[in-house]
Amino acid sequence: MSEASTTALIVGAGMNGGAMALALARSGIDVCVIESRPPLLDWPAGDYDLRVSALTRASQNLLDKLGAWDEMRAERIAPYRAMHVWDAAGRGTIHFEAQEIGEPDLGHIVENRVTTKALWQRLQALDKVRLIENDELVAFERTSGARARIRAELASGRRIHAEVLIGADGARSKVRQLSGIACTGWDYDQHALVATIETEQPHQATAWQRFLPSGPLALLPLDAPRRCSIVWSTAPDHAEELLELPEAAFNRQLTSASEARLGRILGSGPRAVFPLRRSHASAYVAPGVALIGDAAHTIHPLAGQGVNLGFLDVAELHRALLNAMRRQRPLGDLAALRRYERARKADNLLMQAGMDGFKRLFSNTNPLLRMLRDNGMNLIDHSPPLKRLIMRQALEGRGSSALLHRPATP
Ligand SMILES: Cc1cc2nc3c(=O)[nH]c(=O)nc-3n(C[C@H](O)[C@H](O)[C@H](O)COP(=O)(O)OP(=O)(O)OC[C@H]3O[C@@H](n4cnc5c(N)ncnc54)[C@H](O)[C@@H]3O)c2cc1C
Repeated sequence: MSEASTTALIVGAGMNGGAMALALARSGIDVCVIESRPPLLDWPAGDYDLRVSALTRASQNLLDKLGAWDEMRAERIAPYRAMHVWDAAGRGTIHFEAQEIGEPDLGHIVENRVTTKALWQRLQALDKVRLIENDELVAFERTSGARARIRAELASGRRIHAEVLIGADGARSKVRQLSGIACTGWDYDQHALVATIETEQPHQATAWQRFLPSGPLALLPLDAPRRCSIVWSTAPDHAEELLELPEAAFNRQLTSASEARLGRILGSGPRAVFPLRRSHASAYVAPGVALIGDAAHTIHPLAGQGVNLGFLDVAELHRALLNAMRRQRPLGDLAALRRYERARKADNLLMQAGMDGFKRLFSNTNPLLRMLRDNGMNLIDHSPPLKRLIMRQALEGRGSSALLHRPATP
């Protein structure tokens, strides 16, 4: 049975785990990453990942500092220069334009596998990193004493010893379960259907979002002018019906749901449905353990914030661990880890509450609320200073970590 030792053991090499591993390794920390399903590194030309994320400028900066952004850009990313939001049940509309705040774009739509591939390839090139593929964490314990260590056991029988264990293992986090950290949440009575589509008219590098009473429908621009990725959140039964429809019938339904804003939907690829759930870990840290990304919190995708919040976690945990190192404290020290939790928990909860509020506001057909929505949206649309403020917040995200905001060194 093999035994190995490292400083930081990261479970999960999704977008957040990959970024965390790279950030620590580039700061000189030995890292071991365990991934049960290693990322796809090759796909046929013209094939698109069904899962995409709208990445903020703060996330772009972080990926740039980690040396992954250039590879992502070379692979395939799509900037969006405007965002258009409208209410199906009323007359409210808001249009945001990057040029109103003197920016080239409001963010980028990036296929998730483009991000994980770039991170994985960077990790493969680093001496400080040990990647363990096709294996998974099944158990761990923490020794006692001043120099306490994590002893993790993998499905293969391997044992890894580490100062700190980082759970980046997604919404069903094993690290969270094994740490005995409770997780509260509820299903959002909506599932998200995703697909890549071809439209009759060009998307104009604009992210389109229509709020239907059954849930928001987003048409997100991809690299080709008539190609979009959709996230259609709707009642679970409706999502299942849409999933089963023949392509032509699905395209007609989507043309109607999008009010033919980009003309008719001319083609659509494979579809997948994801149940949407809000969840929040009662604690992000325990002695020797930290949770990041979906392992700590999940959120409705209506404002495309999930992984962006995760990257803010990465930046803050990186800062907290470097701080501990400077003070010659063990990385698993609870006081050091709590700095990370304090920096992130309130912000994540605030964002979750905001998204829940939005979802409830737009799912409600009460005429009074509809009027309030109309007035509120139109008020924002006619207030350039307010729009500029919202755009800046959305673009830059919250948080002040140098990993996010200082441009990358060449
Ligand atoms: C429809 C939809 C649209 C979205 N759109 C956006 C968007 O526009 N913008 C945005 O910011 N966010 C968006 N999100 C959210 C975003 O996709 C997630 O927040 C993000 O993918 C979470 O990344 P993660 O690395 O934390 O977790 P995951 O992506 O779940 O990665 C976890 C990794 O851990 C591995 N793993 C799990 N258990 C183990 C184990 N025991 N041992 C070893 N490995 C393990 C898994 O194989 C996986 O690779 C969207 C979500 C959905 C559902």
